[in-house]
Amino acid sequence: MERRKVEVNGREYDWPDAPIVVVCIDGSEPDYMDRAISMGHMPWLAEARQTGTDCVADCVVPTFTNPNNLSIATGRPPSVHGIAGNFFWNPETGEEVMMNDPAFLRCGTIFAAFQEAGAQVTVITAKDKLRRQLGYEMRFGKGVGICFSSEKADQATLAENGIEDVLDLVGMPIPDVYSAELSEFVFAAGVELMRRDRPDIMYLSTTDYIQHKHAPGAEVANNFYAMMDGYWAQLDAMGCVIVLTADHGMNAKHDPASGEPKVVYLQSLLDGWAGEGKTRVILPITDPYVVHHGALGSYATVYMRGVDSEEMARRLFEIDGIMEVHSKGEACRRYELPPDRVGDLVVIGECDVTLGTSAERHDLTGLTEPLRSHGGVTEQKVPLIMNRVAAGLKTEGLRNFDAFDLALNYAVTKSEPAAAE
Ligand SMILES: [Zn+2]
Repeated sequence: MERRKVEVNGREYDWPDAPIVVVCIDGSEPDYMDRAISMGHMPWLAEARQTGTDCVADCVVPTFTNPNNLSIATGRPPSVHGIAGNFFWNPETGEEVMMNDPAFLRCGTIFAAFQEAGAQVTVITAKDKLRRQLGYEMRFGKGVGICFSSEKADQATLAENGIEDVLDLVGMPIPDVYSAELSEFVFAAGVELMRRDRPDIMYLSTTDYIQHKHAPGAEVANNFYAMMDGYWAQLDAMGCVIVLTADHGMNAKHDPASGEPKVVYLQSLLDGWAGEGKTRVILPITDPYVVHHGALGSYATVYMRGVDSEEMARRLFEIDGIMEVHSKGEACRRYELPPDRVGDLVVIGECDVTLGTSAERHDLTGLTEPLRSHGGVTEQKVPLIMNRVAAGLKTEGLRNFDAFDLALNYAVTKSEPAAAE
């Protein structure tokens, strides 16, 4: 019998014959798992990496949350789905435009396509900022689809989220937006809903609050990974095919001696060279939740008017701490970005250096720990792990947005021995 297939954005996916759970662990630098495993905190994952598929993949640059979650959800890079950060600048109106509205998406998701084909789909995110884009074109209701965030779990309705009374179901209070529990709630709900509904496809996406504050191997980080390990073991015991990946990595971006953040303030430099009002630095990491990173990441894009952009690029590249400077065209080719949502230059910091606008515009009072952040090329390596053997998988050039391809097209499920391929 021919297996049913679903085509989404030019990629083809087999119909799942076991429930698929793709987990996006926000900010999961590969070292977090390695250290937690070596210190004995992740018994389930240690076993799954031995018996299943254990790869490292490249995420999307800029290594930010939204572009990567949308890539995983669509199976395609930002040049196709259009989400290149949290913000872009509209030079016509002079406005910074937030890109978290579904209207900015330029293609459909794997979730909506499978739902259209008859699958039951459940999507749970930590922060509400992602929920509406991930739920784009989904239908909500009993046995059809669910999409909600733990941040606003208490406000979920059948009409808008496909579920109500989430707190009762999960048995946890509504978590603080800056907490480990915001992510734990995602898994606790995922396990309950897998038990109750057994959806065909589930997507669970956490927040990187812990990773921004704690290095791999730190006690708080290990506890967080041990918590996740326990929930994955429960999903595994229910027969789920589980793929673990991340939206981006995470690195220390401070002076090891003083603990002070390392920052190159681009707007101050450019104002000095070109004059005020000639250039506009956009930091697409900026969003309403900046407390734990002060809007400092290692990626910036610069819009210019009446300025020699090649000259500015040359001068920026000479600055200590700057790793790459690209023209819009070069950046869009290299990183598969949508040209109309990227400035005239793209600037990327070295591993331990962030890019800011000007010192007075960054509120760093919320940084209670030395800065750890992301956004650059040095946060591009992420785990891509599955609790099943992947039949015939080529491991070179894997992307985090191959997660559903891996789960749906390569997983050798327990009912289907490898020899039957
Ligand atoms: Zn993230």
